[in-house]
Amino acid sequence: MAWDFSTEPDFAAKLDWAREFVRTEIYPLETLDLDHHQFRRLAAPLQEQVKEQQLWAAHLDPALGGQGYGQLHLGLLHEILGTTELAPYVFGCQAPDSGNAELLALAGTEEQKQQWMHPLLDGRLLSAFSMTEQGTGSDPRQFTSNARLVDGEWVLNGRKWFVGNAGRADFHIVMAVTEPDAPPHQRMSMLIVPRSTPGIGIRELGLMNDTDGRHPVWSHCEVTYDDVRVPAENLLGERGQAFTLAQKRLGPGRIHHCMRWVGVCRRAFDMLCERAVSIDVHGSLLSEKQTVQNWVADSKAAIEAARLLTLQAAWKIDQVGASAARTEIAMIKYHGATVLHDVIDRAIQVHGSLGFSTDMPLEQMYRWARAARIYDGPDEVHRVTVARRVLRDYTPRAVPTEHVPTRRAEALARFRDHLEVAVAAQ
Ligand SMILES: Cc1cc2nc3c(=O)[nH]c(=O)nc-3n(C[C@H](O)[C@H](O)[C@H](O)COP(=O)(O)OP(=O)(O)OC[C@H]3O[C@@H](n4cnc5c(N)ncnc54)[C@H](O)[C@@H]3O)c2cc1C
Repeated sequence: MAWDFSTEPDFAAKLDWAREFVRTEIYPLETLDLDHHQFRRLAAPLQEQVKEQQLWAAHLDPALGGQGYGQLHLGLLHEILGTTELAPYVFGCQAPDSGNAELLALAGTEEQKQQWMHPLLDGRLLSAFSMTEQGTGSDPRQFTSNARLVDGEWVLNGRKWFVGNAGRADFHIVMAVTEPDAPPHQRMSMLIVPRSTPGIGIRELGLMNDTDGRHPVWSHCEVTYDDVRVPAENLLGERGQAFTLAQKRLGPGRIHHCMRWVGVCRRAFDMLCERAVSIDVHGSLLSEKQTVQNWVADSKAAIEAARLLTLQAAWKIDQVGASAARTEIAMIKYHGATVLHDVIDRAIQVHGSLGFSTDMPLEQMYRWARAARIYDGPDEVHRVTVARRVLRDYTPRAVPTEHVPTRRAEALARFRDHLEVAVAAQ
């Protein structure tokens, strides 16, 4: 019997350490309004402590400098790290660098790993994943940014949108059309493009949760590539393989997002409950009002369900790989994003105007949570994926399988003899 929801004592101890460390060492940094450089300075000694605990870059195999814990264990760790936007950076597993390191591990040559992956894992470099083009992010088959091989160099042209950390990164991994005549999913390749290459234009974007681009961990940019030249050996993986590689990169990455959302939910839920037992209005505590009790009960159930769904998807990736777990990954992406929104929303409501103010972290959580329904593919696309895959197991029938008159006729034909004997015996 293999159903077991417990965590091995050794790993549980690591999670306990991480929980305490995040709460006592990282939460206080949230209140200091740090810019990117100030945050990196303050994070450096904390990163050393994480390394000593063997929790650094936990997303990669030991051969690649990571810890090789597998997605399920990673999920449990991300639940703790997700409680604050600052923690993943301190633990060396922040997006987009974690996914890019996985990509380099998966498809990089030895030289590419030496030059880009190892320094990325050590936290000496930052990276960006340059894929989306405005208005077509949900349908990468429409991307037009392209690269041509000219005299041993890739010449890259195009415009990318919402590229995380493009301005701060040391290199971009860019998806570009290199095989225009191939079938849609085999047209693009990935290129490693150093940020310092001439021809790269960057425009920092204002975001709903970061209108002035001062977020300590991320910035998001529109990027233009105008005749940007990189050597032929900067191709990552095979020509035409970008789509397949992107799927491999985004699968486990989505699980990490979802588990971080569970962490955010828990933090918001704690605030909701604390406030509910603290405020007395119209003759009783908020926690004694049935509406608030419903919010507590519904939030608790929704968080636990999202957590189990996420862990089950992580477990399936560990067992059979990300491709075979596509339905589970897509399902938790839209389900988790909705739970995240609803729990924070209720926590704000319980706090009233205090929840709407910047005196509480809830308003910032709420604005950031809105993005969860869009990044890594909008909810609608993941719903389509799930529905399509689920519906594949069904065949059309003129008469429904469960049609009672038809089933009754079949049952009568099958049991007629027994029924006649029973009637005769009465
Ligand atoms: C915070 C954040 C960080 C990001 N980081 C990066 C990054 O680092 N690198 C990068 O390359 N990109 C990044 N992105 C971009 C992200 O991948 C895209 O926003 C996402 O894939 C959706 O693409 P789009 O925004 O172009 O939406 P569009 O493709 O323009 O879609 C718009 C809307 O159309 C609807 N829609 C689309 N398809 C369907 C469908 N099949 N059925 C029904 N409705 C549909 C949805 O409501 C969708 O929201 C980031 C985005 C956000 C918000």
